[in-house]
Amino acid sequence: MQYALPMQTHAPGHTARRLAPFGTTIFAQMSALAAQHHAVNLSQGFPDDPGPAAAHEAAARAMQAGHNQYAPLPGTPQLRRAIADWSASRSRISPDPDTGITVTAGATEALAAATLGLVNPGDEVVLFEPFYDSYRACVAFAGATPRFVQLRPDESGTRFTFDEPELRAAFTDKTRLVLINTPHNPTGAVLSKAELQTIADLCLQHDAIALADEVYETLTYDESQPHISIATLPGMADRTVTVSSIGKSFSLTGWKIGWAIAPSHLTAAVRAAHQFLTFAVATPLQHAAAELLTKHHAIAESIRAHDHAMRDLLVPALTDLGFKCFNPAGTYFVMADHTEVSAGLALSPETTPDAALCRHLTEHARVAAIPPSAFYSTPSDGGRFIRFAFCKQQPTIEQAIANLRETLG
Ligand code: PMP
Ligand code: GLN
Repeated sequence: MQYALPMQTHAPGHTARRLAPFGTTIFAQMSALAAQHHAVNLSQGFPDDPGPAAAHEAAARAMQAGHNQYAPLPGTPQLRRAIADWSASRSRISPDPDTGITVTAGATEALAAATLGLVNPGDEVVLFEPFYDSYRACVAFAGATPRFVQLRPDESGTRFTFDEPELRAAFTDKTRLVLINTPHNPTGAVLSKAELQTIADLCLQHDAIALADEVYETLTYDESQPHISIATLPGMADRTVTVSSIGKSFSLTGWKIGWAIAPSHLTAAVRAAHQFLTFAVATPLQHAAAELLTKHHAIAESIRAHDHAMRDLLVPALTDLGFKCFNPAGTYFVMADHTEVSAGLALSPETTPDAALCRHLTEHARVAAIPPSAFYSTPSDGGRFIRFAFCKQQPTIEQAIANLRETLG
């Protein structure tokens, strides 16, 4: 789906049929529109700080020490050891560093390698929507069929959840994989133990694999809603691939150092794809990442505390302006219902209401956000929502609030 925004990088006549429907990712489109209008960019989720100084120093040292040729296919031994210890301490998953961890080019490659390595053409993959946009493309790469289950506001209207019968109905005898994301982008929901148990029970019943995207594992804000890895539920360690990266936890989205954790039989499948996708990823950054994951847990905690404070600055301000926010328990995004705000604006009827509002706010309020319809199989299902990222420095958030107040307030 295209939003008639300025960046069109693919030529529709030439793009392969399996990819043509996805157009150019909304993140590239909205960041380009934000730049064009000098808008505060709360669309694509990336921090606007330079990243931790300890990371710069560790990367420079690794380069100067000569770690500049290919890393081993599964990742450097130091980084795999560091990931194993990090996961054991944070998520209580204890992988074997040699046979259970694959270092990838960000979580994005881990998700693609797991899907390509594990899913056959004709298989079915259960996806929750709104979904992170690369999931659908991964399913298409594999020649599989997506089965969508919607996350919707719960009865209290405060958090997104799924309907158990709807999820049950999405599982069939062709289900190979269910792709889950917790903490969840874009809704900010953190899946509860009961929700994860429901998914786990269905995986066990249908002999399906869980692919768990946990890139926001460190970013949770409510002690009553902690991050739980589905791999730690009974019977699931053997059938789960857990994906994460240092992008969010260490404010280093540009490093693209990620990983897939899985039992050896599933790791073999992930590596079967990884070896031909990238073979190996940036060696000096792997050395630096190993240092961060081992010695600098305090950095991840200070990033979490900062994002928590920015959530608590942005969400009340948006609420004051008429956005009905779903206060996120995790991630660095807030999803809001914009119905009341949009009602007072003359928006273009040519696109879904969220895309029209995002264009309007970027052009007139100089604040860019993401239209979540890009994350739904039927885009209009996301039309009443808007997503703002708050992984920004405080002056950036304050400027965005001031701009929105001037136009909407
Ligand atoms: N999964 C989710 C849910 C995300 O929001 C992102 C965003 N960056 C990714 C995966 C990709 O992570 P990476 O940058 O490590 O490839
Ligand atoms: N994960 C980020 C987001 O959701 C963006 C990632 C990307 O630009 N591909 O905004």
